[in-house]
This record gives sequence, structure tokens and C-alpha cells, in this order.
Amino acid sequence: MRFDIITIFPNFFTGIFDNGVVKRALANGLIHVDVHDLRNFTHDRHRTVDDRPFGGGEGMVLKPEPLVEAVESLGVPTKQERESHGRETVVVLSAQGARFTQATARELARLDRVVLICGRYEGVDERVNELICDRELSIGDYVLSGGELGTAVIIDATMRLLPGVLGNEASSAFESFGHGDEHFAEKDGPPRSTHGSGGLLDYPHYTRPAEFRGLPVPEVLASGDHAAIRKWRRERALEKTLRNRPDLLENAELSREDRRFLERLTRAKP
Ligand code: SAH
Repeated sequence: MRFDIITIFPNFFTGIFDNGVVKRALANGLIHVDVHDLRNFTHDRHRTVDDRPFGGGEGMVLKPEPLVEAVESLGVPTKQERESHGRETVVVLSAQGARFTQATARELARLDRVVLICGRYEGVDERVNELICDRELSIGDYVLSGGELGTAVIIDATMRLLPGVLGNEASSAFESFGHGDEHFAEKDGPPRSTHGSGGLLDYPHYTRPAEFRGLPVPEVLASGDHAAIRKWRRERALEKTLRNRPDLLENAELSREDRRFLERLTRAKP
């Protein structure tokens, strides 16, 4: 899978992909990342990428010409072609964008190529959206000073879903926000997880030592009783989701047992 980044700060990405899973995916050729300096697509002596906003107001706006030229230089199919048989997408990072979620990451991971445009200043001339972009994405409800961090977030979250990147296909199904395909649910094997979090947060993890600063690892995890471990993990995931992200429960896949457990929890702590 190929990622193209368009930015006025190419140095931002030096080192950011040099660690862990991303580094390995790059080394193995599973992903390819190209950083393009927006200033290379300017034609004036000062390599101007921004200008003052029409209508007045604060700050500067990224001009449309260099951005459109930069995208056109990449040889991606036109916006119309992408709409009809999209194996590529062009994204503008924007605080006004649709929220980037695990579901978006799964959607992007099915594509061959993602082009990411990093905004700066007050943002990008709106015509860039109309002419060459397929979607605006926001990584959360806060305002950053540029699209570069969001781009790194999107690449990281997307590439770790690609086959072969994590080594174990199941890992990304079993974590927070995981879809938890039935296909992975080995009902008789050792419980690695909540068997598809089904939209819940992940359960808590423990490793050695068995006791640390007076805190023991929950006994059930050492019991070897797979059914008990599965139940314990499911309940902790439900508890944590109720506490930290109750909004997720609305769309989570919940069994009758799950619902009963949640009812007990909410009754205990009104
Ligand atoms: N005036 C804009 C904010 C501009 S911030 C507004 O009020 O919506 C400058 C750039 O940072 C944006 O163009 C965008 O590329 C990036 N950015 C800021 N917040 C972001 C977010 N939550 N998600 C993704 N990109 C963001």
C-alpha cells in the first residue's frame, strides 16, 4: 500500500516512521511512504504557498495552485475515476473533517493508495476540496497547528491493519474497537481476548511478575480455566467501556449476558 504526503514541513516526517511496526512494514515493502514538499510546486522566487483570506479575518490560507499541481503530479486517477472505481483516495486533513475512526482505518486499508494533504495556518483553499479531494478527515475534536500529526496517525492506524504487518492477523480484530469476526473466534482455544471486542474497549492486560508492589495479577488469569478467563475479560471490557466510553455501548454487539452484567453495574453505581 502506498501513502503520499503533501506538506510544507517534509522534515516533520524524518524519524517518525523509523520505529517498530511501521519501520518493519517499510523495510518489508508492505507499505511505501513518499513525502512531497509543497514548495516544489510553486513557481515564484519566494516559493509562496499561502496568501491572505478573501473576506478578511485572521491568518493565512494555503493557496490552491501548488496543492492541485502536487496532487496532479502523483499520477493518481481523476476524482471522477476514483469515484467510480476507487482504489485510491485523496484526503485533506482538517478540523472540519469527518472523524477518523477505526472503521475509517479499515476502509482505507482496503485501498492501494492514499494521498494525504497537510493543512497549515487557517487551512486550505476550499476549492482544493472540490477539485481534487475525496474527503476531509479530522483526527479528533481539537485544533492542531497542522495536518502532519493527523497524517502520521492515519498512516499508523491504517497500515497496521494490512495483511502481514502485525504478523498475527487476529491481533487487530481482538483489540479496542475491533470488529471481532466470528471467523477468529476459536471457542475452544485459549482465550486470547474477548473474542472480538465487537466495538468495546480492550480488556486489561497483565504480564509477569505475578505480584508487583503488593498488587497481584487477578487470580483467574492463572487458573487455566479458559471459560472463566473469557468471562472475566469480557466483563472487564464492558466495565471499562461503561466507565470511559459509554457512547460506544450504543453500537456494540452485546449478548444477553453482557446486557445483564451492564445492568447490574449501573444499578450498583447509579
Ligand atoms: N481554521 C481551522 C483550523 C486550522 S488548523 C478551523 O478552525 O477549522 C491548521 C491545519 O491543521 C488544518 O488545515 C488541518 O490540516 C490541521 N488540523 C487541525 N486540527 C485538526 C484535526 N483535528 N484533525 C486533522 N487535522 C487538523
